Amino acid sequence: MKDATAPGRTDFEATRERFHLPPGQIYLDGNSLGPLPKGAEAMMRRTLFTEWGEMVIGGWNRADWMGLPDRLGDRIGALIGAEPGHVTVGDTLSIRVFQALAAAVAMTDRKVVLSDSGNFPSDLYMAQGFLRNFRSDMTLRVVEPDAVDEALTEDVGVLMLTQVDYRTGRRHDMAALTARAHQLGIVTIWDLAHSAGAFEVDLAGAAADFAVGCTYKYLNGGPGAPAFIYVAPRHADTAHTVLNGWLGHADPFAFEPEYRPAPGIARMRVGTPAILQMRVLEAALDCWEGVSLADLRARSVALSQQFIGAVEARCPGLELASPRDPEMRGSQVSFRFAEGYGAMQALIARGVVGDFRAPDIMRFGIAPLYVTEADIDGAVAHLEQVLSDREYLRPEFRARARVT
Ligand SMILES: *Cc1c(COP(=O)(O)O)cnc(C)c1O
Repeated sequence: MKDATAPGRTDFEATRERFHLPPGQIYLDGNSLGPLPKGAEAMMRRTLFTEWGEMVIGGWNRADWMGLPDRLGDRIGALIGAEPGHVTVGDTLSIRVFQALAAAVAMTDRKVVLSDSGNFPSDLYMAQGFLRNFRSDMTLRVVEPDAVDEALTEDVGVLMLTQVDYRTGRRHDMAALTARAHQLGIVTIWDLAHSAGAFEVDLAGAAADFAVGCTYKYLNGGPGAPAFIYVAPRHADTAHTVLNGWLGHADPFAFEPEYRPAPGIARMRVGTPAILQMRVLEAALDCWEGVSLADLRARSVALSQQFIGAVEARCPGLELASPRDPEMRGSQVSFRFAEGYGAMQALIARGVVGDFRAPDIMRFGIAPLYVTEADIDGAVAHLEQVLSDREYLRPEFRARARVT
């Protein structure tokens, strides 16, 4: 489903106003954890006091808590080009990767799952754990991101990729790789963790088989917000399930002793949905009201180009780690710098928040719903100071914290 909002009309000052952004801070880490949507507070008050407080167990029906995973799924589906009724929400992304992989490998007799070294480790770990324990006849083949195309061969059964590389922001061409995979009889799984809410995605147009993603990055659903899963309509009633929780059953309240998968995306539900977290996500999805995804993308590219140009002009020593061509990028910009950890800590102390990924990547998320040109200017000015004063060498900035 395409976004219905006409391009050229999005008011990004208004969308920025929808978030609580800590005063005095320049927040460029929305690719890791989006900021608090202002609407979350009223939403939570209503959920806690009007729904849970007054309705107690009646909330499952009266407030339709039970329908929330699918309602939110459709709202996310509109941002990722999914057909209505084919996305559901719940559990964590790691769990969703496991589910999608189990369903995909059940559709092939081939023995290879192909992924790339730009994939997020949790996706690769889940694949290793799944194959080792349940499909020891299969192997995981991991190639460099640039080599994926030529690694699509007829022994590959499943292609499992994260569309945007979490370190470099490099973006795979989902439509082209999916089309090539399908020519060769390969089932595709796309992880949209750094795509959903970052730019236009067209799952239906690409004819992707499965997709998964999280909602706490560019979708701003809050720490630990639930993940989503998409199953293409053509697989919806046959997709294999392994996490056979009662809410994925065709008739959960019949309490039958044998599992029967529900038709459609409901079979990917597992257990009781986390309603409180889902209500925060609902408030976060309200922030997309009136947003054209074409405008979002144009703004993301403009801000990213502004940032790259200014850093390269004023911050010698930093090397662009992201593709230079915007078409090849998601909505983040990364630079390599040997003292990147210390430099990022020094930046954070100055109120410019990005993050660091080992061994030497400084990441800056460009979330167009709330990042401004002034943020980019300010971030570059601070970065220039951190480098020219060698602030990154200070001992307090070099000591590693648990979360980087
Ligand atoms: C952020 C991210 C994850 C995190 O998974 P969780 O289960 O939500 O912790 C997994 N995969 C990718 C590609 C990610 O970007």
